[in-house]
Amino acid sequence: MAKQIKTFYCLRCQHRFPMDHDPKEVVERSCPRCGSNSVRLETPQAAASLASGGQSNPE
Ligand SMILES: [Zn+2]
Repeated sequence: MAKQIKTFYCLRCQHRFPMDHDPKEVVERSCPRCGSNSVRLETPQAAASLASGGQSNPE
């Protein structure tokens, strides 16, 4: 029961999509829409940032 479905988002096209996520496993991910590998696990902060329409990068 290690794997969980999490929401990821693409930094390039802002596409959001569910994927299974195992915290113990580092997996190279790519966006199913644009093919970019700039894909991040969506955090509450990221969701809020996307919802506000900002281009800001908290890092
Ligand atoms: Zn994308």
